[in-house]
Amino acid sequence: MKAGWGSSYSSVMEEYDRKRNEAIRRAEEVRAQFCRRSPAFAEADRGLAGIGRLLLEAGRPGPDKETRWAEARRKVEELRQKRAAALEAMGLPEDAADPKYECAVCGDTGYTDAGMCACLKRALAEASLEASGLGALTRTQRFDNFSLDYYRDSEENYRTMKRIYEDARAYADSFYGKGSGNLLFIGGTGLGKTHLCCAVAREVAMRGYRVLYCSVQTMFSDFSRERFRSGYGSDEGDTDRYFSADLLVLDDLGTEVTNQFTVSVLYEVLNSRLVAGTGTIINTNLGAKELRERYADRITSRLFGEFAVYVFAGRDIRAQKLREK
Ligand SMILES: [Zn+2]
Repeated sequence: MKAGWGSSYSSVMEEYDRKRNEAIRRAEEVRAQFCRRSPAFAEADRGLAGIGRLLLEAGRPGPDKETRWAEARRKVEELRQKRAAALEAMGLPEDAADPKYECAVCGDTGYTDAGMCACLKRALAEASLEASGLGALTRTQRFDNFSLDYYRDSEENYRTMKRIYEDARAYADSFYGKGSGNLLFIGGTGLGKTHLCCAVAREVAMRGYRVLYCSVQTMFSDFSRERFRSGYGSDEGDTDRYFSADLLVLDDLGTEVTNQFTVSVLYEVLNSRLVAGTGTIINTNLGAKELRERYADRITSRLFGEFAVYVFAGRDIRAQKLREK
């Protein structure tokens, strides 16, 4: 079972109900208007409003069911034609009185006979992205615009980055929730770490998983705010998502001021996620040696033991891009 629609599913469905009811309400207003303008339209419309009962009666079992049914269908068709003619007389198209749904395929119900409508799948993916914290980054940092051309300064760098790109893409495409594994991206500024992190987060969120993307600094601020609040008797827990997300992507490890508090938060989050088997991606400017110096062994042993480690290569892309302009 894919986790992650959760609360976004119910809020998306509420929105569908809302827009569907709105389309129906508008159509009723329009029909009332047409009824006032055209007596012929009003007569046909009244007749069509009684269709349900007519068909129900015609559908009752009995010896003459076939005849009754055919007669009812004929009546419905006749009323429809009369209404269309009345609309035409007013210079309006045949569907002028029908509800205008945003999606003509499912009539804004989100479902067709074949299952979930493409529009609902898209809306759910968007809601999932919205909740991930990726925001505007998802528009600019994608797999399809990650260019390996920036790594052509050496054959070796190019090969390294091509492998990292392919592995990141495979991770995103095959992510299946618990047990999908963890990635650690190491490398200097401007080598595309954030870009690849975002691309993975975006793909996984689009596939319906609950993704949380943020900088380490934001995570520490959230935990410290919660600790501060709980000191005043509040039990509001907005740090739960760091534990419950199907995929947690932490940007910029090492840019924070490291102290006992940050180390213990980092350990708690990492360890809980490893025990639960939920995926984590971390990206850092610190090298392996610096990571070991800065964080307790209980953290680095997990980072180097349970994460697939990727060391980025190349020259600062931002600097290369600036020179292009
Ligand atoms: Zn639809």
